[in-house]
Amino acid sequence: MLRLVNIHSAYGLVRVLKNVSLHVDGGEIVTLIGANGAGKTTLLRAISGLQPVQEGRIIFDGRDIANTRAEKLVRFGIAQAPEGRQIFRPMTVMENLELGGYLVCRLHGRKQLRRAIGEMFDMFPILRERQDQFAGTLSGGEQQMLAIAMTLMNKPRLLLLDEPSMGLAPLIVREIFEIISRLRKDEGLTVLLVEQNANAALRIADRGYVMETGKIIIQDRADALLENPEVRRAYLGRD
Ligand code: ATP
Repeated sequence: MLRLVNIHSAYGLVRVLKNVSLHVDGGEIVTLIGANGAGKTTLLRAISGLQPVQEGRIIFDGRDIANTRAEKLVRFGIAQAPEGRQIFRPMTVMENLELGGYLVCRLHGRKQLRRAIGEMFDMFPILRERQDQFAGTLSGGEQQMLAIAMTLMNKPRLLLLDEPSMGLAPLIVREIFEIISRLRKDEGLTVLLVEQNANAALRIADRGYVMETGKIIIQDRADALLENPEVRRAYLGRD
């Protein structure tokens, strides 16, 4: 479904992505792990059209989408959940979902928008309960669920997730990851998941890539990465 071939990207003169190649097949959960500053967020931003790519190809459904505008990519079926839970805090849960679904509304009208919101409430019942509450007053886990729901409003086929576990308690992390697994199982969603919480990410992923200073240094099945001595030492905090 998605294939990156020899991607290079830089901030000014600083090269951040160096010859990165990876692929995500339809229906897979693939995780990208690595230390702070390895370039994981930059890679997601490159795929979703927010970061210029200087060299290489990004193929989605057979078409080269490198340097395509984010809004157009949403129409193609790629959507990135906002980083660091960038929800609209002074607006209600309902208003946030309406904003997330602006494209649905523009393309298909208000009735479809209402239907999509109803589907999100079925998927995240806590958001239905909190629909009139200001988003800024939600718990961290609820804010993360809202961010994911806002992204899903556009019915992507490929969901890009940037550190959904950031700042959340272990129990909530487990809940969020269960939701991601369920979305794949029930909706056939394909997911590229960037995580510093390598342990949790590898437990739900099919395959994983390890990134270090802008390069992919290891790629393997997720269960093999969990047993890989180098990965265990550097990213799982175990010998
Ligand atoms: P983290 O998990 O901390 O977000 P990351 O693996 O996602 O790390 P990136 O955020 O992609 O890493 O950053 C990769 C490198 O690019 C870092 O050295 C960072 O300092 C640099 N960088 C990121 N954003 C910018 C920017 N806007 N301008 C210049 N350099 C940047």
